[in-house]
Amino acid sequence: SRFSNYFLMKNEDVIDYAKERLDFFAPGSELECDEIGDGNLNYVFKVRDKKSGKSVIIKQAGETARISDEFKLSTNRNRIESEVLVLQNKLAPGLVPAVYQYDDVMSCCVMEDLSNYKILRAVLSEDHRIFPYFAEHITSFMANTLLLTSDVVMNHKDKKDAAVNFINPELCEITEDLVYTEPFNDCFGRNDVFTSNQEWVAAEIYGDDQLRLEAAKLKFQFMTNAQALLHGDLHTGSVFVTEKETKVIDPEFAFYGPMGYDVGNVIANLMFAWANGNAVIKDEKKRSEYIAWLEQTIIDVVDLFRSKFSAVWDDSVQDVMAKEKGFKEYYLQNIITDTAAVTGLELIRRIVGLAGVKDITSIVSEHDRMTAERVLLTAAKTFIKNRYSFVKGQDFLDTLLQVQ
Ligand code: ADP
Ligand code: MG
Ligand code: MG
Ligand code: MG
Repeated sequence: SRFSNYFLMKNEDVIDYAKERLDFFAPGSELECDEIGDGNLNYVFKVRDKKSGKSVIIKQAGETARISDEFKLSTNRNRIESEVLVLQNKLAPGLVPAVYQYDDVMSCCVMEDLSNYKILRAVLSEDHRIFPYFAEHITSFMANTLLLTSDVVMNHKDKKDAAVNFINPELCEITEDLVYTEPFNDCFGRNDVFTSNQEWVAAEIYGDDQLRLEAAKLKFQFMTNAQALLHGDLHTGSVFVTEKETKVIDPEFAFYGPMGYDVGNVIANLMFAWANGNAVIKDEKKRSEYIAWLEQTIIDVVDLFRSKFSAVWDDSVQDVMAKEKGFKEYYLQNIITDTAAVTGLELIRRIVGLAGVKDITSIVSEHDRMTAERVLLTAAKTFIKNRYSFVKGQDFLDTLLQVQ
């Protein structure tokens, strides 16, 4: 078979692949295929039968990044993504797409087509729509996938095997560089700072020695705290939504790391949507409703995560020492501290670093974008430096609101 050796597929190859390798389509189907990827790393093909309308998604990993040959990456990330989606569907049922099959040779994953959903970042920054169930769903996803893969719940030997199975050095290196290193240094040549903020960033980010020291501490904590199986890339571009449903996609950065990395990513990306709404929505009533929903959602993500984490803990924790009085509160407070730090790191890396977000880059007014970036970066410094003082959702929102 032409699919016994790896190659990067084109649309026509994917149709042949679907005919030869999938049971999904009836014989005599009339298949069509489009590449619909919009991410940085991989190729996402949608295969559809024109007769029945049935469709699947085939996501294939290339040996370099989709956006640039400069990033050479193991295709093993597609195995990690496929296995993690299957596991997450067990731990947090219905909150990720169903995986139909994974092909280790072609490094591709065949999964449920979610084309009737929308990517959260797109509907937030383009339409400013409200998703009343998002906080509920994303906190169920995080409390379950994180706590149930950790040492406090799992058999300790099984957990160590899992940590080895999901070792992910190349994608971790991307995070170590793009989140934890380059945004704090002017010398790597890949930062992408808005012209009007270049002097400000030089003084307030590159020039802040205390901030850089805290970022250094956090970098080596990220690299060594094998606490739970993270999603690892839980921004609003990795979340599909409808009015009532939420599905998390794209866990190829998954590895055993600190739980607050996922929670902090969610919160920071809600803050990008908040800054976009404040800068862009002209109608006052629409703006205040949308902003009120985002502010409540920021609070709810922290507080619902806390309460669900606590409930899952009480149901699932086995280790006798973890049941020691006061230990749950200690453990959860450490996660909230990490969450605050990562909220700050993600805010900085998306504004200063290589990978920007549309919420900010789509703000047309030079003055409004400059201001939005400074507000978020100023809050980010507080999230990092004062991370030990954060407890509740309101603390996170207050830090954002206090900047103005
Ligand atoms: P990358 O790893 O390259 O970022 P993603 O998994 O984020 O790839 O997918 C890129 C895009 O492909 C998504 O933004 C979405 O538009 C589309 N896509 C990915 N998975 C699905 C799916 N299961 N159903 C429908 N569209 C999908
Ligand atoms: Mg993606
Ligand atoms: Mg990805
Ligand atoms: Mg930028």
